[in-house]
Amino acid sequence: MTMDAAILAPDSLGPTVCVGEILVEIMATTQGPGFLGPLDLVGPFPSGAPAIFIDQCARLGASAGIIGAVGDDDFGRLNQGRMKQDGVDSSAILVDAGYPTGTAFVRYQDDGSRHFVYNIAQSAAARIRWTDSVSALIRRAGHLHVMGTVLAMPAAWDIIERAMTIIKARGGSMSLDPNLRRELVANDQMEARFAQLVDAADLLLPSGDELEYAAGTAGEHAALGSLFERGVGEIVLKRGSSGASFFARDGRRIDELPFDVTQVDPTGAGDCFGGAYVASRRLGMSAALALSYANAAGARNVTFRGPMEGAGTRAELDDFIHNTSRRS
Ligand code: ATP
Ligand code: MG
Repeated sequence: MTMDAAILAPDSLGPTVCVGEILVEIMATTQGPGFLGPLDLVGPFPSGAPAIFIDQCARLGASAGIIGAVGDDDFGRLNQGRMKQDGVDSSAILVDAGYPTGTAFVRYQDDGSRHFVYNIAQSAAARIRWTDSVSALIRRAGHLHVMGTVLAMPAAWDIIERAMTIIKARGGSMSLDPNLRRELVANDQMEARFAQLVDAADLLLPSGDELEYAAGTAGEHAALGSLFERGVGEIVLKRGSSGASFFARDGRRIDELPFDVTQVDPTGAGDCFGGAYVASRRLGMSAALALSYANAAGARNVTFRGPMEGAGTRAELDDFIHNTSRRS
């Protein structure tokens, strides 16, 4: 049916696995400068880029598992419950009773940017480590998806490196969402690790200037060329409210117009986009169809308050696609 080469290992090889922070998010209900006084808040919502990504993968109907850590508290149970309910293999979520589940408080500022108060580095999220359950999940995995945010979590790197070796050796594939600002790549070691991830990736899912950053080259065309030369098979560029574009090594390009939605909460769009794209490709869909589901998953998610509340099932995304017009 599809004329695309399969650049990702099929779903039948084993679940897509994502490694990293599992958090709850608590949001201010009003816009403004920050948290310097009492505010109305809403939450907790299950969150964390890897958790949002993997939840969207599973909701689309693909096999999916997560490696992360939560505390022995309600914030942890909320995340575990959501993962289970949506069909994510949560056998490798470690419960570390010595630390609380990670949190992110967010308030939208008047210019649309986000003000965060995080507790991640000192939370259970950062206590992630290699366990028998982690090993068992990785040994049956078919694909590894890496969020660039894990570079800020030293304990996750060991797991990522071991997972890359094991999953590639069994014929699995890898994708990378740089999810990273240039200013956050704090040192040479992080820079070297990031380059190692780019070299190992079959699929890249950058947004904005992450494309040029990943390539280390200025200009969209030059950046694409240099990444394909390094062995990347497919690149899907997220363009926020302007849609998304697909690029293949053989020069094919597909542009998707954005869906015309009213944005309620932009957090998680990129993660849902990636989860839907990887799930669709691994289920054997063409790049064009996968791109259309991804574009829909990102757009649908921004219409819901809460970072993963809008992750859609295949039926919900079909519905969304049929009932939503596009901006041109
Ligand atoms: P983040 O890392 O903040 O979650 P991102 O920068 O990785 O986001 P975006 O480009 O913001 O990702 O969003 C991903 C995709 O979701 C877009 O490429 C687009 O398909 C869809 N999308 C996001 N925001 C909108 C919007 N306002 N209207 C329509 N589609 C949107
Ligand atoms: Mg992103």
